[in-house]
Amino acid sequence: MKSLSILGATGSIGSNALDIVRQFPDRFTVNALTAKTRVAALARQIVEFTPRMAAVIDAEHARQLKALLPPTADVEIVFGEAGYVEAATCPETDMVLGAMVGSAGLVPTLAAIDAGKDIALANKETLVMAGALVMEKVARRGVKLMPVDSEHSAIFQSMAGQGRNGVREILLTASGGPFLKRPATDFNAITPQDALRHPNWSMGRKISIDSATLMNKGLEVIEARWLFGIDFQRIKVVVHPQSIVHSMVVYQDGAVIAQMGVPDMKGAIAYGLSHPRRLPLDVPAPDFAHIGQLTFEEPDLERFPCLALAYRAGEQGGTLPAVLNAANEVAVDAFLDNRLPFVGIYPIIDQTLNHHTGVYGADLGQLIEADRWARETADTLVRRQER
Ligand code: NDP
Ligand code: MG
Repeated sequence: MKSLSILGATGSIGSNALDIVRQFPDRFTVNALTAKTRVAALARQIVEFTPRMAAVIDAEHARQLKALLPPTADVEIVFGEAGYVEAATCPETDMVLGAMVGSAGLVPTLAAIDAGKDIALANKETLVMAGALVMEKVARRGVKLMPVDSEHSAIFQSMAGQGRNGVREILLTASGGPFLKRPATDFNAITPQDALRHPNWSMGRKISIDSATLMNKGLEVIEARWLFGIDFQRIKVVVHPQSIVHSMVVYQDGAVIAQMGVPDMKGAIAYGLSHPRRLPLDVPAPDFAHIGQLTFEEPDLERFPCLALAYRAGEQGGTLPAVLNAANEVAVDAFLDNRLPFVGIYPIIDQTLNHHTGVYGADLGQLIEADRWARETADTLVRRQER
């Protein structure tokens, strides 16, 4: 029996993970659940899964959550960053699923590693911000870090039994998002509703926008660099609109090993939670004869400049990826609030990076400061273009 703390339980990844727990009650128990503000959804999860602890963003939401729970509910409610850390480090927890969105995942994930917990990580922003620090702690504490992002799970699976020896390169596949075929001249008219409509995957709002700009793939390139210890020149992106090949590893003899499946996150989440065992899931295999063709093409860096920007920040290293990530979070929020056009996202991130003086070999405090500075700078830039 594995006891889980699920950070970001009310989100797309979190609720898929709870579906898996529901199907395999003899394998998993839930020890802690967290959300930000959606207390009604969290209350329903608490009643069903009876965790010992639950965390939300602040005291007011903790109070609201308590009011929604039956008086018999035996759950400790905590809040704020300290609360998320408590939920991630409770003594009874074996594995933490990091499924919060954005940089809020960093501190609880690091605390969980320090406490010796195994980690299943969906929250890629944590590795983008602080990959060196996270991987160093993982190695020092000897905990298991399982990728949940479908591409990274695919790479992990394609390396099974061979390790990193003989890897020539990694091919990260990208669906291309909802605007793969849209001409650049029509990008000005893109609304949040258009951008949230992903052709293949159903995901949270922030990652859906990241998929539309291809920043998601850029963040994943940085994520892959840390998870697999491979330099940026050997991580390539290939657009594959069918989203069946989840990613591939090219070996030095020219052999390519790929992992395939239908676009459903359940497979990658379950594998992350139960590795090395594969669980009998109600997920079909791709129907190849029906799909007919699997196609591949180069990404268009002119229409999707965020991808090149992420490579640049990743290669420069230091605090630059944390700045890239924070500026992107601010720009995506502004776009979703109709305060910034879709084509305004890239310039905000680019200009924030240009204003930044990188700190190399940064510690946690310096990374958090870079994140704070980038948010403030990007926010100022957003306001300036609103006038
Ligand atoms: P969602 O937006 O659906 O869910 C996010 C979860 O995190 C919710 O539980 C939310 O709580 C909570 N949350 C949001 N902001 C904060 C905060 N500031 N502090 C604490 N908790 C917070 O996101 P997804 O499930 O789509 O994505 C989660 C992570 O997984 C992201 O890093 C994403 O990049 C990654 N990922 C997602 C994939 C997917 O298919 N969805 C695929 C691969 C990776 P509340 O509900 O209260 O707002
Ligand atoms: Mg992915």
